[in-house]
Amino acid sequence: MYRLSEEAIEEFIGLRRDIHQNPELAYEEHRTSALVAERLRHWGYAVTTGLGGTGVVGQMVRGGSGPRIGLRADMDALPIQEANTTDWASCKPGLMHACGHDGHTAMLLAAAQMLAVSTQWTGTLNLIFQPAEEGGGGALRMMQDGLFEQFPCDSIFAMHNMPGFPQGQLVFRSGPTMASSDYLTVTLQGRGGHGAMPHRANDPIVAAASLIMALQTVVSRNVDPLQPAVVTVGAIQAGKANNVIADQARLEISVRALDPQVRVAMRERLYTLIAQQAASYGVTAHIDWRDGYAVLVNDAQQTERALAVARKHFAQDQILAQGPMLTGSEDFAFMLEQVPGCYLFIGNGAGDDAGACMVHNPSYDFNDHNIAVGASYWIALVHELLSQP
Ligand SMILES: [Zn+2]
Ligand SMILES: [Zn+2]
Repeated sequence: MYRLSEEAIEEFIGLRRDIHQNPELAYEEHRTSALVAERLRHWGYAVTTGLGGTGVVGQMVRGGSGPRIGLRADMDALPIQEANTTDWASCKPGLMHACGHDGHTAMLLAAAQMLAVSTQWTGTLNLIFQPAEEGGGGALRMMQDGLFEQFPCDSIFAMHNMPGFPQGQLVFRSGPTMASSDYLTVTLQGRGGHGAMPHRANDPIVAAASLIMALQTVVSRNVDPLQPAVVTVGAIQAGKANNVIADQARLEISVRALDPQVRVAMRERLYTLIAQQAASYGVTAHIDWRDGYAVLVNDAQQTERALAVARKHFAQDQILAQGPMLTGSEDFAFMLEQVPGCYLFIGNGAGDDAGACMVHNPSYDFNDHNIAVGASYWIALVHELLSQP
């Protein structure tokens, strides 16, 4: 078990709270990335900045050759007004670290400091601090800027806190783990008219109402019952007055799947269903489809290695070997499409713990007890995977 000193734990809890007080939105993580780069340089890492805008990579090579691994943390905050009144609550109105990326950055930095002084590993360590995980696709932007060409990795890993699991629990899962998320806007174009004379109009609101019900059959009738999938109509806009038939209705829809083939099949079914529903009401449908994040698939072999490290260095009751799938999404999925690896969770607290408050909630806060646990796991993983031959 690799342990951080009490001083180091205090230092990085302080750093986590400093980042928490100064949250920055996607691609605006200038202060955070400067802080990360400055620390990494100070500890002797070769630092590259500006990948994917505000992304940072710290590289350290020990020995002439050896395996190359990447560890990723995310740095961005969310447009949420913090409800907490802690000393380290956000100083920026309307902005907060409500997903714990402050903690992920601090955990990886704590590990970086200790790994920089350890001589017990051989190989190439790439520490990847990415911008814009929250919908901005920062992982993809770093890859488009040549992340894996400049910093080739044989395997990659990332860790995200998760409320609902006991504090410090390490949760692994082989195979599909986080959902793909796609977004579509459907505009139903009808013909407006007088509310008293519906026969002289084509009412897009009736078409929208029917379509919303029909959309419920995609998951219940078209997707294999053993495959998780979600279709949510999150917004609908149409009409202004009770005696006017609107000429247009707009729906905002979120689509999620945990299997790449289900994702493709749902897309096809949605296009067909929307077009034919619209036609049956005499309106036309325009679909604006935006691909979001891919299905996050953990590589079986790399997950086994990551799990073995936990089993060797942590209490057995602290480990969940095959956790549940989640319908949330994560852009580390794109990195895992290019490099085999594992995305694991660290429990933020369960039951009555304050850490049980779900991410993206104004009362959420990263559990500082996890700084030591998460950093220790990263340190153990690097020593095991980059061990001396
Ligand atoms: Zn989030
Ligand atoms: Zn997150």
